[in-house]
Amino acid sequence: MEIEDLPRTFDTLVIGAGPAGVMASLHASERGPVLLVDAATLPRDKSCGGMLNEYAQEFLSAYGALPDTMRLEPHWVNFRYHDWDRRILKPTALRFANVDRKSFDEWLVSLLPDEVTVVGGAQAVRFTEDTDGVDVVLKGTDGAETTVRCENLIGCDGPRSSVRRSIGAGSVATYVTLQDFCVLEGDIEPYFDCIYMRHIGDSFAYAYVVPKGEVAIVGSVFYPKTRHPHVKHEEVLSALRAALPLGGSVKREAWVALSVRHTHDVVRGRGRVLLAGEAGGFMSPTSGEGISYALNTGRLAGLAVAGHDPAHALDAYHGMTEHIAANISRKLKWLPFMESRVGKYLAGFVPTPVVSNVTKGL
Ligand SMILES: Cc1cc2nc3c(=O)[nH]c(=O)nc-3n(C[C@H](O)[C@H](O)[C@H](O)COP(=O)(O)OP(=O)(O)OC[C@H]3O[C@@H](n4cnc5c(N)ncnc54)[C@H](O)[C@@H]3O)c2cc1C
Repeated sequence: MEIEDLPRTFDTLVIGAGPAGVMASLHASERGPVLLVDAATLPRDKSCGGMLNEYAQEFLSAYGALPDTMRLEPHWVNFRYHDWDRRILKPTALRFANVDRKSFDEWLVSLLPDEVTVVGGAQAVRFTEDTDGVDVVLKGTDGAETTVRCENLIGCDGPRSSVRRSIGAGSVATYVTLQDFCVLEGDIEPYFDCIYMRHIGDSFAYAYVVPKGEVAIVGSVFYPKTRHPHVKHEEVLSALRAALPLGGSVKREAWVALSVRHTHDVVRGRGRVLLAGEAGGFMSPTSGEGISYALNTGRLAGLAVAGHDPAHALDAYHGMTEHIAANISRKLKWLPFMESRVGKYLAGFVPTPVVSNVTKGL
């Protein structure tokens, strides 16, 4: 549907069709009509490792079985720490479902009921709030603008959320991420390897390798404001290619992910505007896992809107998400140690079962 043809009022408008936006829309629709818009054409392409952790798997089991068509070989991978320089491997019991992210996102959207109107290629450019509702200006791919009114707006627009900035909450710093899809020229072990390499320098957080059928994703994560990440990523690729059967790259993606550093990075919204997923600062500060946080907070934002007077939905959402903010706050206490050279060094001496246990909480 073109944005010019949309009805001019909805009970709820949700910005961003990622896991937070889909769950927010699905549950908000229990109150009345919802409009879900995304600036990208749908199905969208979002850079991702495509690893669904146990919390995400459990959450999603309430919405139906993951279709086989989105699963990639091997279907399950375990998380493993890899200290590259010291050749130390610490496999853990953390088991991830290995999925194709684009198919996963498309499947999520397919769960939406008829009460949710979904429009891709529609960017929310600005909004104004008054005592009775919110007017949101949407821009289509042809540049034409349309205003839609709603009682509640839910911003699920990811790590660079403009909704968040518009309510004066400021942005959260972001990691720079690069991912290559390398042709597999032999077998690699069925692990989601998280790799520390000292020689790449202090701006390098970690790399990861995960098999995905005929290819393997090789990702690098750099701290905010890293200069020349592509050059450093090439160094990571060279080191890995020398040791693993990784052939040429068929695709490279550059993206950003939240780097949550403070408890005040979590912001639930203002007035009639709620924030969920990365837009609200909801993401694991220690593991970079974000899908389960997005699913959870999106669902809670939708339930808050569905079950409360529009003027008080945000208060309800505050209470409903307290345990998630506490979870992030607890993880933040581990972060300085995990990132320090000492922490990474000492981790090499910790018995594997202990590493496995601690990792469950990260
Ligand atoms: C390289 C990489 C690898 C990752 N790997 C994993 C992993 O393996 N497992 C895991 O759990 N997490 C992973 N994550 C994190 C995970 O992808 C995110 O935390 C999760 O997708 C956040 O969901 P969300 O719904 O909050 O936002 P997003 O999925 O980012 O969706 C936001 C949407 O908002 C839209 N949007 C933005 N601005 C506007 C606007 N103004 N108007 C309309 N639409 C707008 C965007 O187009 C986008 O589709 C990874 C992240 C990165 C960058």
